[in-house]
Amino acid sequence: MTTVIDSPPLGPVLDDIVRTHRPRTERGSVPASIPHLAAPPFDRFGIAVATTEGEMFSAGDAGIPFSIQSISKVFTLAMALGADEQDSLWSRVLREPSGTAFNSLVQLEVEHGIPRNPFINPGALVVTDHLMESFPDGADHFVRFLAEQVGESAAGSGPYIDEAAAQNEFANGNRNLALAHFLKDFGNLRHPAQAVVESYTRQCSVMMTCEQTAKAGLFLARGGQGVSGSVVSRDQAKRICSIMLTCGMYDAAGEFAYRVGLPGKSGVGGGILIIVPGECSICVWSPRLDSKGNSLAGMAALADLTDRTGWSVF
Ligand code: GLN
Repeated sequence: MTTVIDSPPLGPVLDDIVRTHRPRTERGSVPASIPHLAAPPFDRFGIAVATTEGEMFSAGDAGIPFSIQSISKVFTLAMALGADEQDSLWSRVLREPSGTAFNSLVQLEVEHGIPRNPFINPGALVVTDHLMESFPDGADHFVRFLAEQVGESAAGSGPYIDEAAAQNEFANGNRNLALAHFLKDFGNLRHPAQAVVESYTRQCSVMMTCEQTAKAGLFLARGGQGVSGSVVSRDQAKRICSIMLTCGMYDAAGEFAYRVGLPGKSGVGGGILIIVPGECSICVWSPRLDSKGNSLAGMAALADLTDRTGWSVF
């Protein structure tokens, strides 16, 4: 289904992607509510491709940890579905694109506390709440899950939570708290709003490199099979990818499907994870964002890479 046009050697292609897309002048922004995301220099740019054959190709700043932010929502959804034999999560959150900003309050009020999808903030708060039933130490369990997929522990150079950043974001997290209180009021949150937002914020504050993020997402390219067994079923992997395609880039999902044509998930730390089913998992990172909260250089680089390689689900 997915073919590599002319099979260009991936290493040199990625080096050229970095040369072409690494920002030369400062454009774009970071969200005012998460000031620490302004710390990485604007010209950081990394890209990594983890293949289903077990190879890793990377270029640029692919070994520098960044804040994964909303990319975490893919992994928490997978963990929640993997632990949810009755599929009961789907009575609490829908699977429709929102067409609104990731932290919008308006739709949640109109739609009686049922979030449109798991990749906008209220949806991810419901997923976090759901996960806390099975794993009371939510965010710490989340890091262990990532470390297992990546094959490196937090004690080494594996995924870790930037606790100062999490505290800082939590202290400024009025909008997420408002969303959580709304959910609670509609009866769609079981744990206290504060506890859910705190766990969610710590999940968002996980630091990983492009190489680690690509590795962590590889199970989605392999029909749900992670490094040491099944993370989710084949059907669930397909469905998570479908939700990434339709909802992974917030209200820029249509534009992303048009330009890149693959399931993807962005975070306001400037990272984007995309999946080429059966082939590979790709992570690109460049910290400055467009007005929808997606990495400016990352979007351009993925459009370019997928055009060069022919990777597509279409
Ligand atoms: N932690 C961020 C927030 O909750 C994540 C948003 C994002 O990456 N889109 O607002």
